[in-house]
Amino acid sequence: MDELLRQIENYKVEIAAYDAHTGEAVEAFRIKYLGTKGIVKTVMGEMRNVPNEQKKQFGQVLNDFKQFAENKYHELKEKISSNQQTTEVDFDWTLPGDPFPVGTRHPLSIVSNKIIDIFHRLSFAVAEGPEIEDDWHNFNSMNIPADHPARDMQDTFYIHKNPDWLLRTHTSSVQARVMEKQKPPIRVICPGRVYRNETVSARAHCFFHQVEGLYIDEKVSFADLKQTLYFFVQEMFGKEVKIRFRPSYFPFTEPSAEMDISCLICGGEGCNVCKHTGWVEILGSGMVHPKVLQNFKIDPNKYTGFAFGMGIERVCQLKYRVNDIRLYSQNDVRFLKQFTSAL
Ligand SMILES: [Zn+2]
Repeated sequence: MDELLRQIENYKVEIAAYDAHTGEAVEAFRIKYLGTKGIVKTVMGEMRNVPNEQKKQFGQVLNDFKQFAENKYHELKEKISSNQQTTEVDFDWTLPGDPFPVGTRHPLSIVSNKIIDIFHRLSFAVAEGPEIEDDWHNFNSMNIPADHPARDMQDTFYIHKNPDWLLRTHTSSVQARVMEKQKPPIRVICPGRVYRNETVSARAHCFFHQVEGLYIDEKVSFADLKQTLYFFVQEMFGKEVKIRFRPSYFPFTEPSAEMDISCLICGGEGCNVCKHTGWVEILGSGMVHPKVLQNFKIDPNKYTGFAFGMGIERVCQLKYRVNDIRLYSQNDVRFLKQFTSAL
């Protein structure tokens, strides 16, 4: 008796562990346990040898066992048939596929990536920094004194909670953070979004994008600046492009110069885009002001450097002839889709 009960328990463990993935395996289960010569039948046959006073109790055990095997059989059958339903879907393979629209890269990203790529070849690393800056990194360390017009409320977005916080007006603040952490030689470009409190028009926006560059080492000269920027514009706009420098003023560079390139539309002969001068302005540059170097404990007698900054929208405008800065942030797919081939 006890032996038989133990055997039934073992069969139950076996049945519980049985798994089937095909109709054949389910059928094999049925034959093995529930068939006419199956285990359930054989065990039931043992009833004959059970003493009368135990027949009632034992009958219950056998019925439970039979039920257990049958339940498992139905469960396996159910599983197989539901699998078949999901794999044998009524599917028309001749239907055209769902379209899979491919997006286009934003023109500002295309130009920004190209600028990064060109300077990368000159071993410039990319540096990034926060868009919410403090006064020191955005202005003071850059030799922009408190009475400088750039600090006027009209030009800068200040954070209401703390007058020391503002939205960076240029990515020079990233250069400041690099100089703070790193000793020369330094060779970085800083691409990113900047903010100015300007009335939005075709030519101006309250936010735009800049790439600024900084190179500090021993014996860096204006000739290095010129050659670096000349290489850049030739790679960006073509070998035939010419450059010229005009003296200018920036608080953080001395001497400072604005750089023009020959008009890409008229080739220098004069047209509406270049206001009939044959030249278009592209960036500001200069030798890093000794005061700026001192602010970051870099010895100006040992090290010199150059810096430059340009608007990505400006480069984009010259490259793709986009004449309205607002188009970049309007998210009009008719505009954005035109850059598919520029990927
Ligand atoms: Zn022109």
